[in-house]
Amino acid sequence: MNGVTSIAYLLSGVLFIRSLGGLSKQETAARGNLYGMLGMALAVGVAGVTWLISNGGTIGAGLPLLIGSVLVGSVIGGVLARRVEMTGMPELVAILHSFVGLAAVLVGVSSYLAPRAGSHELTGAAHTVAMVEIWVGVAVGALTFTGSIIAWAKLRGSLSGKPLLLPGRHLINAGIAAGIVGLAVPFVATSGPGEGLVWLLVMTVLAGLLGIHLVMAIGGADMPVVVSLLNSYSGWAAAAAGFVLSNDLLIVTGALVGASGAILSIIMCRAMNRSILNVVFGGFGTGDVKTSEAPRSGEVREISADETAARLRSARNVIIVPGYGMAVARAQNAVEDLTRGLREKGVTVRFAIHPVAGRLPGHMNVLLAEAGVPYDIVQEMEHINHDFASTDVVLVIGANDIVNPGALDDPSSPIYGMPVLEVWKSKLVVVLKRGMAAGYAGVENPLFLLDNTRMLFGDARKSIDALLAAVGKAQAA
Ligand code: NDP
Repeated sequence: MNGVTSIAYLLSGVLFIRSLGGLSKQETAARGNLYGMLGMALAVGVAGVTWLISNGGTIGAGLPLLIGSVLVGSVIGGVLARRVEMTGMPELVAILHSFVGLAAVLVGVSSYLAPRAGSHELTGAAHTVAMVEIWVGVAVGALTFTGSIIAWAKLRGSLSGKPLLLPGRHLINAGIAAGIVGLAVPFVATSGPGEGLVWLLVMTVLAGLLGIHLVMAIGGADMPVVVSLLNSYSGWAAAAAGFVLSNDLLIVTGALVGASGAILSIIMCRAMNRSILNVVFGGFGTGDVKTSEAPRSGEVREISADETAARLRSARNVIIVPGYGMAVARAQNAVEDLTRGLREKGVTVRFAIHPVAGRLPGHMNVLLAEAGVPYDIVQEMEHINHDFASTDVVLVIGANDIVNPGALDDPSSPIYGMPVLEVWKSKLVVVLKRGMAAGYAGVENPLFLLDNTRMLFGDARKSIDALLAAVGKAQAA
């Protein structure tokens, strides 16, 4: 059976790799998801059968427990996934990362207390390796667990997005990290199962505190990188659990998640012009950053839906910039209707996507794909940013931080240095939002006061419906 298990695990691994490949492009994302589901179903099925065979085919109490847990987990996951709003996805992802971390802690502690047959007789280097595997798995798991809980609370607004910058925080982090490494020495020196439990538990608390402190120190604007970093940590935690359980597939899968999360973190850091070290070490170098107090000058100029529709109809080219508010208003289908209507009239319409728009990497791409917006008119920031100067009308739908010119010219702004969509270079910018509230980073946006900016106040969905009606009325006339 070992050979069959290995082949099945290999096949699962290949399916996971194909899944990641598929998820890297919108056109193939659905297929990528399917590969992932098949890979996971195969892995769980084979793990169950292998377990049954290794127990001599005896059902005992274990199998119902295994099947029961899989069923309960699947039902809870299915219900949560069906119920979650697109705006709640980031929180769901963060809390799921915390489960992976918790699972790694539980696997590590239980493997330590009840080692598999033969493994407590290990001596010398083999004993050291087994103990270090447990130590690393529990440490990464605990850090991922608490860090993800804090990220979840920040994303859902239960905790403030402002960074908690304790005096001497880097020393605190270094002290805790030294404690985690140092306590491994007496732990590894113990021999009998359970003898070093106290060291393991103290370290678990320390790693948990480190996770809390690292994520608390990260400000709202850096949260996208934190989400992808925690994704990466959860992968490494799973890989560590794989080593503890000697499960090759868990090691491979964990490493795939860990590596792809790390690559995503680097991509997000580049997109936000942040250093990865700055984010990993929680607010490193942010000590001098103050909330932007750039004086508000200029005036707010409103525009009606009828006038906006008239400007859109007479435009040769239009760029739409979607942001978090489009997700809140669930306006994506209405936006697709408007896009189709304008294109039928011969207006060139494109979408400009900022890498951190919304609350999740790829958030806007998912919404637009769901609404059926053609992929070829959805363009990433680096491809479209030069085109604003030759654009007649830009519609900013529920976006704020990603179109803030202060990111380029206000050194006191917490988002200073982040590349943004330079919408203000176009002839007319129409911003659809409910009021003058700040975005996620909590910064004022001078764009709203510029001469060529007009505000179309109201819920984005209602405003787009009004625009659709106005465009339709003019067509009928
Ligand atoms: P922002 O959060 O900056 O702004 C969203 C704007 O939408 C608000 O100013 C709000 O203004 C408006 N809004 C809310 N609801 C509605 C509605 N129903 N109708 C119309 N407008 C609405 O979003 P952006 O997408 O511009 O920027 C994303 C921010 O989130 C960045 O700071 C990014 O760093 C952060 N972030 C991103 C993550 C990611 O992975 N993408 C993860 C975590 C954080 P008003 O209330 O006045 O209507």
